[in-house]
Amino acid sequence: MNKRLYLVIIGLCALLSAMAQQPKYIFVFIGDGMGIAPVQAAEAYNREVLADGTSLTMLQFPVASMCQTYSANAPITDSAAAGTAIACGSKTRNGMLGMDADTVAVTSIAAQLHEMGYGVGICTSVSADDATPGAFYTHVPYRKQYDQIDLDAARSGYEFIAGAGMHSLTDETLALMHRNGMEVYYGPEAIPTINARRAVLLSPQDAPDWNIGYLIDGHQGRLTLPQITETCLRHLQSVSPERFFMMVEGGSIDHALHANDGGTAISEIRNFDRAINIAYQFYLEHPTETLIVVTADHDTGGMSRCHSSISLPCPLSVFDHQHASKEEFSERCKAMLRDRRIYTWDDMKQILAETFGLFESIPVSTEAEQTLQDMFTATFEQRNTADQQTLYANFNAFAVEVFRLINDAAGLRFTTTSHSGNPVPVFAVGVGAWRFAQFNNNIDLPYHIRQIVGL
Ligand SMILES: [Zn+2]
Repeated sequence: MNKRLYLVIIGLCALLSAMAQQPKYIFVFIGDGMGIAPVQAAEAYNREVLADGTSLTMLQFPVASMCQTYSANAPITDSAAAGTAIACGSKTRNGMLGMDADTVAVTSIAAQLHEMGYGVGICTSVSADDATPGAFYTHVPYRKQYDQIDLDAARSGYEFIAGAGMHSLTDETLALMHRNGMEVYYGPEAIPTINARRAVLLSPQDAPDWNIGYLIDGHQGRLTLPQITETCLRHLQSVSPERFFMMVEGGSIDHALHANDGGTAISEIRNFDRAINIAYQFYLEHPTETLIVVTADHDTGGMSRCHSSISLPCPLSVFDHQHASKEEFSERCKAMLRDRRIYTWDDMKQILAETFGLFESIPVSTEAEQTLQDMFTATFEQRNTADQQTLYANFNAFAVEVFRLINDAAGLRFTTTSHSGNPVPVFAVGVGAWRFAQFNNNIDLPYHIRQIVGL
């Protein structure tokens, strides 16, 4: 046989076998609330502010498409129904986890792959029993049934579960985890000590809430999403080197977008992208054995950039001066209200300059300053403003006004403090990634993974 023809046949066989191959390593990344506009804002920040030519890792993937997110009972989904769709492939009603719309339990791809012998890791930056991670192991009609959800986490026997905390780590749950070989570790210091085959990694026990904390707030001694991702990957490589499935949720993105805090959302998406890059580096070492899919469960905030009423060029460099999230700054304002000291407008201007660069690095028009000062007077002197209530926080009214000004300076506008029905992005690379290159419905995502692994 002609040598060239022989090489072509060998090449074709290798290509066909690679196409038919099942991935040994599957990564699903879910940016909670990460609609296309916040991704675009994070991308624009890299391009316009950093100007170093680095694109987000997820935007470098060869497959980029979209996904519809509506739930069984509403055009706008919550994270429970969307998580169930992505994890199990069933549309369900908002609030329900791991059950279809008729409250019949449905099985997640994580549970099915675990059954097939894949090691499983479930990671998030919010609580490990929140809706998105929960969809991969629990079956409850209401997403806040933490007693049941935590027991289901213990029953899962998954090799790795990580997040900010768990709401109901009762003696019964801990005993069940222990019986299933799952040991609980707290905080980053515990990472080097993980020696159980099945590990649960949570925030330090004295950490205050159900979120590992925003990067922008610079909390010390907390877990970070890239750190959790890397720990999970190393753990799965050690206990299940032949095959594993990992889900990583960027849960803080949703919290920042509910707050309409553009700078923190961009920071959290870039942080989520660092976690994706850890998987991408693994893919580059195992390109014919790995699949990575990145998506969001829904859009939050209904963001748009460079609104026509805002003067161009909408510099995202405004966020370089932001050193506190809206949540952190709001709590600071509330503490100031409780304080005996009387704060003047000049005191506050100094705080705004130090924390957000306002007046010093970011010019504030006379008109905008008057609006801000009026809100300061109403909030701190007359004490007659009401907090803004969103899903995860109550924001001090003055903090809300400050963030409206910062978002305006950066050219960002939000249409809601809740979720929107906008479609979300899908990015994929690796074995079978081409299956995601269409206008997806969220229930298609586990369907494609099942097809790829022959389920
Ligand atoms: Zn949300």
